[in-house]
Amino acid sequence: MISAWESMDEPASEDEPCEQCGLCCRIFGPGIAPTTANVYIWIEQGRTDILRWFVAFMENSTRINCADLQAEDLGNIVSIEMRHPDTEEYVTVCPFLRRIAKERYLCGIHQVKPEMCCTYQPWIWGETFFNRCRGLKKKI
Ligand code: SF4
Ligand code: SF4
Repeated sequence: MISAWESMDEPASEDEPCEQCGLCCRIFGPGIAPTTANVYIWIEQGRTDILRWFVAFMENSTRINCADLQAEDLGNIVSIEMRHPDTEEYVTVCPFLRRIAKERYLCGIHQVKPEMCCTYQPWIWGETFFNRCRGLKKKI
């Protein structure tokens, strides 16, 4: 997702091919899921603004909005999905994506974004390769 090394307060790295077009986040963002380690950090930091956008499906077949989780619940989570906090419906856009110019986007939770966003490198052939990534042009 939007460059692993960029944020509202950190300039882009010279080595970083991401052009912050936001396309990967717009397409794949609603499907992101945090690890339990991500959730633990958000709980520790009191980031209910982030947690409320996720639902945890538990071993006992219940579901809990992540903002209501306690750290001791983390071992009983089966899966976590992004859902709208009011309706529990699937979302169509990642709520953390910020448009800062006509064709420029940033991640609003860059410092603590989910691990899968941090490790996403669509310009490298492999599991997360994304042929519409603008960063590919820099790499060719
Ligand atoms: S599609 Fe590529 S260039 Fe656009 S935001 Fe994602 S990683 Fe950056
Ligand atoms: S959390 Fe940030 S990097 Fe991840 S999909 Fe949303 S806007 Fe993109």
